[in-house]
Amino acid sequence: MGRKFFVGGNWKCNGTTEEVNKIVSTLNAGEVPSQDVVEVVVSPPFVFLPLVKTSLRPDFHVAAQNCWVKKGGAFTGEVSAEMLVNLSIPWVIIGHSERRLILKESNEFVGDKVAYALAQGLKVIACIGETLEQREAGSTMAVVAEQTKAIAAKISNWTDVVLAYEPVWAIGTGKVATPAQAQEVHFELRKWLQENVSPEVAASTRIIYGGSVTAANCKELAVQPDVDGFLVGGASLKPEFIDIIKSAE
Ligand code: PGA
Repeated sequence: MGRKFFVGGNWKCNGTTEEVNKIVSTLNAGEVPSQDVVEVVVSPPFVFLPLVKTSLRPDFHVAAQNCWVKKGGAFTGEVSAEMLVNLSIPWVIIGHSERRLILKESNEFVGDKVAYALAQGLKVIACIGETLEQREAGSTMAVVAEQTKAIAAKISNWTDVVLAYEPVWAIGTGKVATPAQAQEVHFELRKWLQENVSPEVAASTRIIYGGSVTAANCKELAVQPDVDGFLVGGASLKPEFIDIIKSAE
């Protein structure tokens, strides 16, 4: 089953209205492959979601960077999945390593969030990845399998899930995983899905790579058989994001 290439732009906690307008105009003017070839989703901070949603070209979609783990209510500072649905925001990023590490989101909490967001009708970019310490200790696969298992335990339908493998040591460091390193983990993750979820889910679920992806390194990563796209941080705020989208071809 063909997996459509997926390119996500994670803007993180960046941008003013002026900067957001500038990024959107750059994206709107970009010449990229058709929607049949690549799915493009950009993820501005919550406060800019309505602005980006109304000004962005219709073939690109938007994602929130997080949402609350259950129904909204007395949870000061949180944004619920229901609110995103109400604003017609189709996607949400869940379990980014910055939230896991800085805000102490556990595997189980991330699994609960993924399940709740899916149940509300959102599509989810679920992030996993090991730290440098874990890689050096040889536990990369055990760590990402554990993170994936916590998600798999809570959901039964993977249709609306994109799995983002983002090694923590590669995020924002300029130290991208080599194509062989990325392919190795993506291959193992697909095998994990095959053995623990189903062969169908393993064959159809997009596993994308994130961590210091740039226009200069995206092509050699994109041709790896188990790399189905990217989650891009820093470079998604720059015109080179267009070149990264083009690596789908
Ligand atoms: P980076 O971030 O591309 O700036 O390394 C990736 C991410 O955190 O999603």
